[in-house]
Amino acid sequence: MSPRAYAIMHRMHHAYTDTEKDPHSPKFSNNIFSMMWRTRNMYSGIYKRTIEVEERFTKNLPDWPVFEKWANSTVSRTIWVLGYSAIFVYFASTLWLLLLLPVVLAMGAFHGAIINWFAHKYGYINFRLRNTSQNLLYIDILMLGESYHNNHHKHPSSINFGKRWHEIDPVYPIIRLLAWSRIIKF
Ligand SMILES: [Zn+2]
Ligand SMILES: [Zn+2]
Repeated sequence: MSPRAYAIMHRMHHAYTDTEKDPHSPKFSNNIFSMMWRTRNMYSGIYKRTIEVEERFTKNLPDWPVFEKWANSTVSRTIWVLGYSAIFVYFASTLWLLLLLPVVLAMGAFHGAIINWFAHKYGYINFRLRNTSQNLLYIDILMLGESYHNNHHKHPSSINFGKRWHEIDPVYPIIRLLAWSRIIKF
């Protein structure tokens, strides 16, 4: 996927949460699949620049057209598919494990659907906000901390999604490590 298009869409979600302009809101879709379809169309419109985007959503975003084109291309997608398939073929000890391959290949969509649908419907809140965001899991290893979605809507720029003692965000130490190794800055 194009990181730029994804980032714009994500900024729109924060600005328009639970309104008609939200790129993915369970409030404006009848079921999870129609929400995913709407998300897909928004992403594609932003990527192809057929949807007009306010300047505040593109501000300070890197614009790397060659990389964006490559990331969104059929060729790069095919390489990912072949790579993941090879890992399955090499390591799968029984055939039924191959049933999980489609889930791995569509992980972006799965992950997005779980957070964008369920974490705006079920869970508990730490912060009273004017939106439906909730913390879906009490301890979130499965979604790598992203399901502390109520925390994330309250502190969108925080690199640690966990706020209470039991809310472990497994990606947070990785970000710290990458920053410590001077690979990233925050
Ligand atoms: Zn949200
Ligand atoms: Zn966010």
